[in-house]
Amino acid sequence: MRKPTLSPTRFATYLACPVKYRWSYIDRRYQWFVKAKSYYSFGVSLHQVLERFHDSQDLGVQTTGEAVAALEENWMTSGYSSPEEAAEALAEGRVMVEGYVATAVEEEEGSTTLFVEKDLQKDMGDWTLSGRIDRISERKDGKIEIVDYKSGSLPPESPIYDIAMGCYALLATPLFPEKEIITTIVSLRNGARASAERSQDELAEFEADIRKLASDILNRDYPTIDPKPKPLCTHCDFLRVCATHPDFAENFAAYGSIPEGF
Ligand code: SF4
Repeated sequence: MRKPTLSPTRFATYLACPVKYRWSYIDRRYQWFVKAKSYYSFGVSLHQVLERFHDSQDLGVQTTGEAVAALEENWMTSGYSSPEEAAEALAEGRVMVEGYVATAVEEEEGSTTLFVEKDLQKDMGDWTLSGRIDRISERKDGKIEIVDYKSGSLPPESPIYDIAMGCYALLATPLFPEKEIITTIVSLRNGARASAERSQDELAEFEADIRKLASDILNRDYPTIDPKPKPLCTHCDFLRVCATHPDFAENFAAYGSIPEGF
């Protein structure tokens, strides 16, 4: 039998709400509730440009003008409520790409890109850890840098506490057994960067933690979990599904109203 696969997105979904994890990955009968998201289109459009910019095999996106042209050519519009909203987001995206290209040349001087959009997997025993890393570079000091782009601002915590960055470090370590690994989050919104190094002990501790989390995710009895109203529910595709659960609608009143039409 094929082993289950867990990824940073799956971990984040489960930690945010196990019921959402159930509807997203275990019991997919309500997938038709899932709507296209403009923030997803925005992030993918930006990532595609940066992938081309850092790909040494791709000579078509090397300057700010070429990067902006590539963004305009491949701009994804799904999830936006109107052409005007999509055009406004494209204008914002142009500024972000221009800002990124201008600072990347300086920040990354002497650094060599080794991989872009790299899919990696690691056998964890009875499950597989999987992840796609935006970029892996070798810096001029010889350290390996794992870079993750965020369309928004940097998270308030150091990347050392970011579950996705921990997973990426675990996934990339076997490729560079002799090298020190740094994880860096880059905000495309304002160019801010945050980096963290993990010792082998810290990485081992992180691995032990996600093994426990994975065991919880893979062994949970999902149908017995009651949905609990929380702020996240207001933007959740499954709100109308959870609203059919006894008491949910009444307890959700503090957060907002439930759309009609299940
Ligand atoms: S509506 Fe709320 S409780 Fe239901 S799946 Fe979404 S986040 Fe979870």
